[in-house]
Amino acid sequence: MSESVCEETGTATGAEIGDKTNLVNDIAGDAMPADGNIGIDPQALPRPEATNPYKLMWSYTIVLVAVHVIALYAILPWTYSYLFTWSGLILGILGHFVFGMLGITIGYHRLLTHRGFTCPKWLEHSLAILGMCNLQDSPARWVAIHRMHHQHSDHQPDPHSPLVSFLWGHMGWVICRHKELDRTSHYERYVRDLLRDPFYLKLERRDGWFFVFLAHSFVITLAGLIFGYAISGGVGSEAVRYAASWTVWAVAVRTVFVLHGTWSVNSLSHVFGYRNYKTRDHSTNNWLVALISHGEGWHNNHHAQPRSAAHGHRWWEFDMSWRIIQGLEMVGLAKDVVRPKR
Ligand SMILES: [Zn+2]
Ligand SMILES: [Zn+2]
Repeated sequence: MSESVCEETGTATGAEIGDKTNLVNDIAGDAMPADGNIGIDPQALPRPEATNPYKLMWSYTIVLVAVHVIALYAILPWTYSYLFTWSGLILGILGHFVFGMLGITIGYHRLLTHRGFTCPKWLEHSLAILGMCNLQDSPARWVAIHRMHHQHSDHQPDPHSPLVSFLWGHMGWVICRHKELDRTSHYERYVRDLLRDPFYLKLERRDGWFFVFLAHSFVITLAGLIFGYAISGGVGSEAVRYAASWTVWAVAVRTVFVLHGTWSVNSLSHVFGYRNYKTRDHSTNNWLVALISHGEGWHNNHHAQPRSAAHGHRWWEFDMSWRIIQGLEMVGLAKDVVRPKR
């Protein structure tokens, strides 16, 4: 995102900025039309007009290809035994919960996008920092795109509907240029509440979020080096092997898993699964996606009641993220928790 856009956004925010909850409610366009006609012909949904499939976002493309290639080394026959360590695998699984669930599912999505609960600023910012460690862009950009998705879900301006094509909805939209998404008006419309906070505004400048990702990768690699040195009794080659293992498993493999988990919510959970609610989109509840994305796969429930902090609405719809939010509420760290309406 360009600096000028951020600066414009920064100066434009102010008196006209409404209450953030009103903003969240205003742009939620998930309600079913009164006549019950959702107006979708799945065979004919065009890409958003502002996108260009022949113009790639090269910085995104290169970084995403790189992290997939590094993750691939974990399973290649001639590298996997050198790179595999139990500590790397365990850290990768833990990271899926810490960075993926706390950062993306609870932080970026249920807290920042939908304001499903409130919490102290230090905790909100901490969750946002964890979110940035997943290569899913800055909080403001992620939130703006997701709010746009809710407003237009499965209709042409939706930035990532799989009704255009499955691959487009899954990851094509991430790497193709969408000229609306960088405009000041887009940020004004969708995230003016977030950009009132200098913390989020600063992150837009000079891609601060990406340096957070690099910094966390460096810390994990360094920790692997120290750990390997310590448990091998000071063998340098083992220290290097652990550093490489932790980079591959605890950073790259985990990041790829979290990325595809989030992308599957946009793709699989708009195509395959069952529906509890008649919403004006094709959102579905998908148990597999719910499993790999800590409850986000109950996506038809979510489109029906976007502000609810709980996405599982039936007894079998287990929602790990909701359990954590309930835990935060019990210890007094989450307040104003929005529950599903019966
Ligand atoms: Zn959706
Ligand atoms: Zn949402």
